[in-house]
Amino acid sequence: KAITDNEFCLFFQPKLNLRTNSINQAEVLLRWNHPVHGLIAPGAFIELAEQTGMIRDITRLVLKQTYAIITLCANQNIRLSVNLSAMDLEDFSLIDFMQTLHKQQPDASRHIVLEITESAAMRDPEQALDILNQLAAMHFQIAVDDFGTGYSSLTYLKQLPIHELKIDRSFVLEAPTDNNDKLIIDMIVSLGRLFQLEVVAEGVENQSHFDLLQEYPEVILQGYHLHRPEPLESWLEKLN
Ligand code: C2E
Ligand code: CA
Ligand code: CA
Repeated sequence: KAITDNEFCLFFQPKLNLRTNSINQAEVLLRWNHPVHGLIAPGAFIELAEQTGMIRDITRLVLKQTYAIITLCANQNIRLSVNLSAMDLEDFSLIDFMQTLHKQQPDASRHIVLEITESAAMRDPEQALDILNQLAAMHFQIAVDDFGTGYSSLTYLKQLPIHELKIDRSFVLEAPTDNNDKLIIDMIVSLGRLFQLEVVAEGVENQSHFDLLQEYPEVILQGYHLHRPEPLESWLEKLN
């Protein structure tokens, strides 16, 4: 009902490029604007949507809404990252759906990053590889979300068409006080350098996280300390 009543909307969280001190990317984050309960974050419903299979419709809705604004963002030189769920990597009909969008707006995919988690790609690696290759062939970029928390298989760094690693926020949150987390960040940044992948650090919540990450000028930063997720209108207003 929330789908047919149009109660889902997109929020955006900008990511800061330290080198250029500019915003060239933002993550698309789903919100349920419930008529009684107000804005509901995805933590409260994504899992249920996955269990019931409704995530398929939700993913299509997010992609459709992203396509509707991608030209606007591309004109501001901003790429949008969309989260895919594990189930999406088992759904070949999603490819047909994306191919239809792609035919209508062939340039859009170059401005869209698809975020997948390690565990999602590992559920059925062969199938995931097939789907990701088809998406990469349409010029979507692929990011590995929550990197370091799953299998961190080096095989897929070699096999999958990956463009970006997202350091999980659990490492960033503890890094100022826990040297092991700092070492894990060092390692992921090195992997990024070696494999020529973009590296994003999420969960930059305060000044100490921000200060620590200055050590890695190539890393793109995302977190409440820089920008909270917000609706498109208020975000674009700030950029102008
Ligand atoms: P995620 O992909 O790891 O997204 C980042 C989450 O971290 C977002 O939560 C964001 O608001 C939050 N965050 C940003 N900065 C900070 C920070 O400094 N500190 C902390 N502690 N958190 C921060 P959100 O929007 O509640 O989304 C939660 C999760 O729901 C996402 O985690 C993602 O897995 C899922 N999700 C969100 N939108 C979608 C979607 O459109 N499709 C699917 N399949 N999943 C989505
Ligand atoms: Ca994400
Ligand atoms: Ca994440």
